[in-house]
Amino acid sequence: MIAIVGSSNIDIVLTVEHFTNPGETQRITKLEYFPGGKGANQAVAIARLSEKPVYFLTAVGDDQYGKILTENYERENIHGYRVVSGISTGMAFIEVCLSGENRIIIYPGANACLTQEMVLDSKEELLKANILLVQNEIPFETTLYACAMFKEASKIVIFDPAPAQDIRPEIFRYVDFLTPNEEELNALSKTFFDNFVSIEDSFEKFNKLGLKAMIVKLGDKGATYVDSNRLFNIPTIKVTAVDTTAAGDVFNGALAVALSEGKDLAEAIRYANICAAISVTRKGAQPSIPKRIEVEEFLK
Ligand code: ATP
Repeated sequence: MIAIVGSSNIDIVLTVEHFTNPGETQRITKLEYFPGGKGANQAVAIARLSEKPVYFLTAVGDDQYGKILTENYERENIHGYRVVSGISTGMAFIEVCLSGENRIIIYPGANACLTQEMVLDSKEELLKANILLVQNEIPFETTLYACAMFKEASKIVIFDPAPAQDIRPEIFRYVDFLTPNEEELNALSKTFFDNFVSIEDSFEKFNKLGLKAMIVKLGDKGATYVDSNRLFNIPTIKVTAVDTTAAGDVFNGALAVALSEGKDLAEAIRYANICAAISVTRKGAQPSIPKRIEVEEFLK
């Protein structure tokens, strides 16, 4: 089994003619709601690609959005969520203008209530998994605690450092695979080492902090793997990109599924590239996540 400890959001997408200026009022042209959050996107990717139940420790509020999200989790065979009373579900307000650019405001809501105690309460269920995926949209202390718990049990930890803020270096000693995209690697390298020189140079420095390996997501250039002994790039397939939202989450989910099924690293990254590439050919975050059968059809 694979476990995730992370965020759940309802994405409220407001399509506008232009970004609203200070003091201006404008009517939106379209209002849409989608399930989102990096933790949730990765959980859905794992459920669809593994066709197995997924344990997802996350917190939603006891409001209408929480109900929508938890019904969605049940449909996807995802379990482990907590409903917290007296607080709203996390929300992302996404202003999309006609040029396609977006601006995002996050209200963490129940995500901020995902505590170390909840991780401890779920320890037995969580440790049935061999692989843990975490991101950085819940309190950092909770993420750190979950990583330490899995490492102590000699299990695999995959940390997606997004957003790349408020991360403390002690987490790296619990991490097997750090999976930043290019901007996140740049931001983390500047925070911890004052500059970014190259993937290899950054890895060497993270390695001194205890990190075992890094997989850098490079958009249409695929992904680069680096550890203390080797560095290689696995190109992705050529597709017509329509919407890259959640491509990184699909990549992480697929990587975990492939590793849990015994694929070697290069094969697992190749599979993750293909799943993520399929997702960029479709609109939306969770609606774009492929099912296992679709990937199998594609590979025929
Ligand atoms: P997100 O849009 O979810 O934030 P990200 O910025 O974290 O994604 P990217 O590097 O943009 O991560 O994309 C993740 C993976 O998706 C890539 O490593 C690659 O496998 C695949 N991918 C992204 N863009 C393309 C593309 N245009 N063509 C093919 N594959 C792509």
